[in-house]
Amino acid sequence: MPAQIGVTGLAVMGANLARNFARNGYTVALHNRSVAKTDALLEAHGDEGNFIRTETMEELVASLETPRRVMLMVKAGAPVDSVIDSLVPLLEEGDIIIDGGNSNFVDTRRREADLATKGLHFVGVGVSGGEEGALLGPSIMPGGSKESYKALGPMLEKISAKADDGAPCCAWISTDGAGHFVKMVHNGIEYADMQVIGEAFDLLRTGAGIEPAEQATIFEQWNKGELSSFLIEITAEVLGHVDAKTGKPFVDVIVDSAGQKGTGRWTVQSALDLGSPTSAIAESVFARGLSSQRDQRAIGQEVLTGHGVAVEMGEGFVEDVRQALFASKLVSYAQGLDMLTSAGIEYNWELKLDEIAALWREGCIIRAALLADITKAYAKDEKPANLLVAPAFAQAIAQAVPAWRRVVSTAVQLGVPVPVFSSSLAYYDGLRRPRLPAALTQGLRDLFGAHTYNRVDSEGSFHTQWTGDKTEVEAEDTH
Ligand code: NDP
Repeated sequence: MPAQIGVTGLAVMGANLARNFARNGYTVALHNRSVAKTDALLEAHGDEGNFIRTETMEELVASLETPRRVMLMVKAGAPVDSVIDSLVPLLEEGDIIIDGGNSNFVDTRRREADLATKGLHFVGVGVSGGEEGALLGPSIMPGGSKESYKALGPMLEKISAKADDGAPCCAWISTDGAGHFVKMVHNGIEYADMQVIGEAFDLLRTGAGIEPAEQATIFEQWNKGELSSFLIEITAEVLGHVDAKTGKPFVDVIVDSAGQKGTGRWTVQSALDLGSPTSAIAESVFARGLSSQRDQRAIGQEVLTGHGVAVEMGEGFVEDVRQALFASKLVSYAQGLDMLTSAGIEYNWELKLDEIAALWREGCIIRAALLADITKAYAKDEKPANLLVAPAFAQAIAQAVPAWRRVVSTAVQLGVPVPVFSSSLAYYDGLRRPRLPAALTQGLRDLFGAHTYNRVDSEGSFHTQWTGDKTEVEAEDTH
C-alpha cells in the first residue's frame, strides 16, 4: 500500500510527527538524510503503525500515493531550500510539499510563489507543542492554498490536539506564509508569557522573600484560576524541583542567561515592519538579550548603584502580583492579535482571529484557559478593535489596574526590573489616554523637517513656517 504521507527529517520533531500520523492510522514513508535516524525510529517504534522505510528521495517519492504529500521536518533555513531542490524534479503537478519547521514566513512566501510556478503546492505549517505535542497532538497552523488544504487538512486535523469541545486545534490560516506567520506570533506571545512569569517570580522572591518551593505552591494555586495555563503549570513544576547534586532549588543552579532561536526576534522585526506596537513581546526579547550580556552584567554589578528603596510589603502583595501578571499577559495577547490584524491587511490574508485563538486552546505552549474567552470575543459579528476593549476583557483588566500600578511602583522602588509589567501598563495607558504627546512629536517634526501635521479642527495637512513669520500654510501630507 502506498504511503499517504512522507516525512523527511526525523530528528525529535519529525520522528514524533511521523509516529503521530502512524498512530492515527496513516501509512507513513520515512526518510532522513542520514539513514541511521530512520532505522533508530523503526527500531524503537516501528510497531506503532505502518511505516515504509526509504533511504533516498527517489524511494521516498515513489512510495507515496498521489497527490503526494511530503512533509519536511528539517532544520529551518538553507536545509529547507536544499531539500526542496532535491524533491522538485521528482514530483508532479498537484503534489504538496509541506514545511512543518519553524521557517521564517518571508522564506515561506518566496518558496510558495516559486513552487506555484512549477504547479506544486507549498504549505508552510506552524507546529507548536514541542516534542510531546508533536507526538500526542500539537496545535497546527497551516498556510498555503485552500486547494492544498483539502488534500492535507483532514490529516493534520486528525493528528492535532483537540480542545475541550472536541474541535481540532488546526485550521486553515490563509495563503502562502500565513501559517508560519501565526506560529511566529504565537512564539512571540510565548516569550512575553514567560518573561511576565519571570518578573512575578523575581518580585515575589526579592520583594517578599518567598523562596522557590513556596512559590511553586503559589503558582499551583494560580493555575486553578484565570491564569490557568500550561506555562503557569510548568512554572510550579520547575520552581518546586530541587537540584539533586546540591540540594538547592533547581532554579538557583541554572545560569541566568536565556537563549533564543529566532522566532521572538522575527516577531519583533516583523512588528517594526508593520508599525505594530508589540512592546511586551519586544521587551521580552530584549530581556533575554540583556540576560545574555554576562560580561557587561558582571561589571554592572560592581559599578552601578541601585538606590533601591525598602518597601513595606502588604499582605496583599502576592495577589497584587497575580493580578499584574494577568493584566500584562492580556496585553501581550492583545498586541500579538493586533499584529495579526495588521499583517492580514499588509499581506492580504483573511485571518480569522477567533479560529486562531481557538486552535491555540490546546496542544501549543501558550495554551491557556483565557483563550476560550478570546475565541468568544472574536467570534462575535462585531470584532473588537483590540482585545483589551472587548467588554469582558475591558472589565477584567480594569479590575486588575490598581494592583498592576502598585506592583510596577513597588518594582521601581525596589530596583527590580519588570520590563513587561511596566511596558504593558504603559501600553494600556497609551490606549486609553484621550491625548498623547505624539501631538508634540508632530510639532517638533514639522519644525525640524517640515513633516507637516493634521489639525484637530480641520481636514488636510499643515505646515508652520517656523523660519519665517510662523504663519500656517496648507501642505501636502508627508507624515
Ligand atoms: P533540527 O532543527 O535539529 O534539525 C535536524 C534535522 O534536520 C535532522 O533530521 C537533519 O538530518 C536534518 N537536516 C539538517 N540539515 C539538513 C540538510 N542540509 N539536508 C537534509 N536534512 C537536513 O530538528 P528538530 O526536530 O528539533 O526540529 C525540526 C524543525 O521543527 C525545525 O525547523 C524546528 O525549528 C521546528 N520545531 C522544533 C520544535 C522543538 O521543540 N524542537 C518545536 C516546533 C518546531 P540529519 O539527521 O541527517 O542531520
